[in-house]
Amino acid sequence: MAINSDAITIDEAKIHTALETTREDAVRVREVLDKALELKGLNESDVTALACVESPELLDALFTTAKQVKDEIYGRRMVLFAPLYVSNLCANDCVYCAFRKGNPAVHRRALRQEEVAGETKILIDQGHKRVLLVAGEAYPKEGLEYIFKCIETIYDVKTEWGEIRRINVNIAPLEVDEFRALKACRIGTYQLFQETYHRDTYSRVHLAGRKRDFDWRIGAMSRAMEAGIDDVGVGVLFGLYDWRFEVLALMQHVAQLEERFGVGCHTISVPRIEPAVGAEASEHPPMPVSDTDFRKLVAILRLTVPYTGLIMSTREGPDMRRETLALGVSQISAGSRTNPGGYDKEDYEMSQFSLGDHRSVDEVVRDISQMGYIPSFCTGCYRMGRTGQDFMDLAKPGLIKHYCEVNAVSTFVEFLEHYASPETKAVGDQLVEQVLAEMSPGQRNRAEPLVREVRDGKRDAYV
Ligand code: SAM
Ligand code: SF4
Repeated sequence: MAINSDAITIDEAKIHTALETTREDAVRVREVLDKALELKGLNESDVTALACVESPELLDALFTTAKQVKDEIYGRRMVLFAPLYVSNLCANDCVYCAFRKGNPAVHRRALRQEEVAGETKILIDQGHKRVLLVAGEAYPKEGLEYIFKCIETIYDVKTEWGEIRRINVNIAPLEVDEFRALKACRIGTYQLFQETYHRDTYSRVHLAGRKRDFDWRIGAMSRAMEAGIDDVGVGVLFGLYDWRFEVLALMQHVAQLEERFGVGCHTISVPRIEPAVGAEASEHPPMPVSDTDFRKLVAILRLTVPYTGLIMSTREGPDMRRETLALGVSQISAGSRTNPGGYDKEDYEMSQFSLGDHRSVDEVVRDISQMGYIPSFCTGCYRMGRTGQDFMDLAKPGLIKHYCEVNAVSTFVEFLEHYASPETKAVGDQLVEQVLAEMSPGQRNRAEPLVREVRDGKRDAYV
């Protein structure tokens, strides 16, 4: 039976039938992988064929194709950001989350604006330029205005060499007029995870509060886009239900946004459930996703929506993060804390879940530089108005690359000049020289003057 919400319909029966009737088929899989190399994305039948891959040879072929597509579209740049948890107040009861209402193990706290400014300053001093503001689904007495004030506070913090240039937000779903007000605060992406697209599972794991309402949540992206927010980020909390169902349902969600608004989603996040204090269910996810399946789903998403950013958080450990960078991930968080005030003082008793990667930003930057990636702190597109449809119009013919690699290098040099340890600077400087030498003449002509300007003390140089 098809299930209706305001604007989004997930056809569960269609997905179940497709998964039940499809078996691994080598000829079909090779055909889909060839199609993926055309960089035009895949349909549900293609994705079902890939989701049924089990044999090592076909898995290898899937991973190799994902790497090719990743290289072709994203080259070697890797965008970095940090979450900033402003509050763990919450009126909902999601069985997997430490912030769930009534969890006595968690000390509740919404940061005061001075504390938000303090956390922001710490992130800027680590070299960050992009922040993901995160909050539980209840606000202090000012209501939603609290979030607006936090955004203003973060943008207002300036240090000698830095400032936050893009704030993405992951907060509770809003009404259309509230989304308009949020957009007016100059946010980048509005991010919200459906958690699970499987309605029965959804009602089993969301026990109280407004989040119980599946339709209210699944309609959030439509309302955000109606309000003019054209960069939206979707996601699934993997481990709640069959990952193959979730990937196909997510595709249906994105396709309907694209049909209605002319553009799908800007990013997809792929969190897996991690242990959380006072949330027993997080220790035993109903349908845990194995490491192999996790790699598989990242590769499949890369081929399915080649121009959509894929985000990997510090929930995963360093090894899995390294592997999935090659398979399709284009943005990673680094040096994260998931308790409000965590950059000043980490406190697991106030954290949302446990982290898999505890390295500092400097260490992550050095590590990925050694792997040949250019750590990018670029926020150029968003500030030049290259968002939503405009972004996709540039991205699809491959034009965005002209900006991205150049801006990645200039923002990386900014990091190396002002924030890197001597060890990281040495590794990074060498990589920058190599990247400049390997650029096309046209790109190099754009990149070299920017790099010179940044080394001469100019900040925020981008094209
Ligand atoms: N409260 C808002 C919400 O629920 O959408 C936004 C913030 S919530 C802190 C951000 C995301 O964290 C959730 O959407 C959920 O997917 C994820 N999350 C919650 N508990 C988790 C856990 N134990 N492990 C990994 N991710 C978790
Ligand atoms: Fe609250 Fe979000 Fe955690 Fe659910 S996932 S308990 S809504 S903070």
